[in-house]
Amino acid sequence: MQRSSLLRTYYVAAIVVATACVALELATEPNASPRALLFFAALVMLSSFLRVDERSIGFEAAPVFGAMILYHDPVVAIVPVFAGIGLRCAYDAFVDRAARRVEPFYEAAELGLSYYVVALLYASAVARTAPLMAKVSGYILLMVGCVVAHLIFASIRRYLDEERGPLDFRSTLASQTRTLLLVSPIVGLEVMSFAAYGGLGFAAAYLPVLLVAYALRRESVAEKQNADLIRRNRELSILTESAAQILSAEGDEETLRRMVSLLGGLAKLKACAVVTWEMNPEIAGTVYRYGECLPTDQEIGRWVDSAGFAQSAPSRAFVFQNELRRFPLSNGSGIQVLIGIQTVEVIYGILIYETEDASIIKTGNLNLLTLLVNQTAVSLQDQLLRREMRDKTEQLEAQAATMSTILEVSNGLIGSFDIDAMLTRIALAVRTALGFEVVVFALFDPKKDEFVRRAHAGLDDVWEEVRRKHVSSSEIRAFFNEEFRISGSFFVSHTALVQSEHGFFVRPDDTGEKLVAEWHENDMIMVPLMSADQVIGYLSVREPHDRRVPTMEKLKTLEIFAVQAVTALQSARQYEEIKRLTAIDALTPAYNHRYFQEALAKEIHRHQRTSHQFVLAMLDIDNFKRFNDTFGHPVGDEILKGLVDELLTNVRDMDVVARYGGEEFAIIFPETRGVAARDAANRLRELVGKREFALPQVGRALRITVSIGVAVFPEDGETNADLINHADIALYQAKKNGRNQVVLAADVAANEATGA
Ligand code: GH3
Ligand code: MG
Ligand code: MG
Repeated sequence: MQRSSLLRTYYVAAIVVATACVALELATEPNASPRALLFFAALVMLSSFLRVDERSIGFEAAPVFGAMILYHDPVVAIVPVFAGIGLRCAYDAFVDRAARRVEPFYEAAELGLSYYVVALLYASAVARTAPLMAKVSGYILLMVGCVVAHLIFASIRRYLDEERGPLDFRSTLASQTRTLLLVSPIVGLEVMSFAAYGGLGFAAAYLPVLLVAYALRRESVAEKQNADLIRRNRELSILTESAAQILSAEGDEETLRRMVSLLGGLAKLKACAVVTWEMNPEIAGTVYRYGECLPTDQEIGRWVDSAGFAQSAPSRAFVFQNELRRFPLSNGSGIQVLIGIQTVEVIYGILIYETEDASIIKTGNLNLLTLLVNQTAVSLQDQLLRREMRDKTEQLEAQAATMSTILEVSNGLIGSFDIDAMLTRIALAVRTALGFEVVVFALFDPKKDEFVRRAHAGLDDVWEEVRRKHVSSSEIRAFFNEEFRISGSFFVSHTALVQSEHGFFVRPDDTGEKLVAEWHENDMIMVPLMSADQVIGYLSVREPHDRRVPTMEKLKTLEIFAVQAVTALQSARQYEEIKRLTAIDALTPAYNHRYFQEALAKEIHRHQRTSHQFVLAMLDIDNFKRFNDTFGHPVGDEILKGLVDELLTNVRDMDVVARYGGEEFAIIFPETRGVAARDAANRLRELVGKREFALPQVGRALRITVSIGVAVFPEDGETNADLINHADIALYQAKKNGRNQVVLAADVAANEATGA
């Protein structure tokens, strides 16, 4: 059975017993008349209004003891007390309807029974006609018995009533002894006055007691108020000090530690656990432990979870004692206090505090504890807000810095068309702005179907080696799997991949956790460089400085840099194309005149210091005018194109074929000597001569021949004009000699010298 219901039963039982005793006494012809009983009941009731301590023997002892001596019948003990105090309780209940109904009547019963028991003892121990001394001894017995009886009753009641602490024997005994000592002379006076003046005398002797009682009561009230004031003062000073201590703490751990040490000041700590959780209840809470906390962190966490405190925590202190503790932290006895650490907005955690100090239960102390905990919650909230603000500010600053880096890079790219230099610039920016130690740009080479690394940041030591190692297209494309896609990037976790024999990355059978916050050295992030649905390269990053898998925001920024690279590549390629177009002849794929002049000047410049030889050949179609005249200009144009095609397929990559003008072409053969030049020129001449120009307009294949004049640098000329002039003279000579042949400038000079 619960103690609270036991207590109720006990109350009711006491009232029933007292009522039964009253009935019994009244039934067995009492010595006192009903009038006398009423008279004493009135005196008891009067005194009850002036009781100092509501729960102990008071000045009603004076009329009761007096009556006992006079009437020598226990009826005068139980009936007036039960009736007097009972009436007083009825009055209270009438005035204050909310007052508890059973308890006050129990008090009447208890008091009545206390007096009754000793009255029975007195009546049986002392004869009615006993001498005075015997009566005095009996009276002392009456007093002691009364106190003992009352203490027994109070103890039982305290044992059953959990809300009140154990009985303070010393102070109860002291206050009762004081009352009884005050009462004793009055009892004597009452008895004597009764003999002389009857009931009126009795009452007159008793009245001074009421004055004393009134004075005592005033004093007691003042004392109580004083104690209250002192208590409040103490609370206030504790609160002020604790506010300063808690609010000045930095960090959750320190704040909580100070709170627990302040609670220790209220009631000595036995064991304590605090569980706090982040805003996200999915994440397991953090457990802080103090004192001899027996359960493990996991056990505490699980219990707090199962109790659902993260969703709703107690806003006032709940107290559990000894074996009634819901989740004991320590062995043996203890009082457990449970309270949520929370503000109106957020539940930060839950406090489980255990102590053996019963004074914690006092309402004042519980209020203090609640206030301390609330203060802690406010402090935690304040710190959380400050942390959030600081994080936000840092985030904004980082964003601004990234933006300015992007802008800087963009500005730096303007006017530059060197692809590798541009990519390097972006790679370095990625490293500083996003904190990746290694950044690599690779471009796709469609001819070889592989990716070539072109620029980097952070690979200085191994770059030469890395750059030479090309990666097959299929290997890279394996990473661009939709499964790995996050935004426009591909995050390939080390857990998702193993390296096969062929170097391909494939998913292992057991699919591990895909996204973990911690960065693993084998994790990869690749951002494809896309140009109109084509992968033209990729940007890959490794070794993040914060050792975390990047946030979405970081990935997006990385993609901005990738887009920057694509834009830079596109504009560089456009630039290359424009440059190429401005160097090419309008009709044929040969270089134009301007480009030829530049190339020739460059070649001269290159060879000036080393005086290495190179060769310039001037080529002219034989009797081309007649072709035009016969077949028309469009056919002539087609022949020009075919001729250039023939020349380009049969010269080396380094040779420059340019249209000098009309049907005259210039060819630069770098690093070629005169003898070799004659052979090369002749070979070209023969190849052209053999080519059949199939032209639909004509209906039959046409053939042409060419004459070639060759000049060698530096022998035949050291400037553009000089060299061209000498090649031209040789060409003229070839025409003169009958066309379809090669003449060297040196031959012309030799012939002139011999006068031929
Ligand atoms: P030769 O053997 O002496 O060189 O005789 P030729 O007729 O080729 O004389 P020349 O080199 O002076 O020829 C110039 C002719 O080339 C004039 C013109 O009919 C023709 N020609 C020049 N440029 C073009 C061109 O762009 N298209 C066409 N179809 N013909 C051109
Ligand atoms: Mg010609
Ligand atoms: Mg010509």
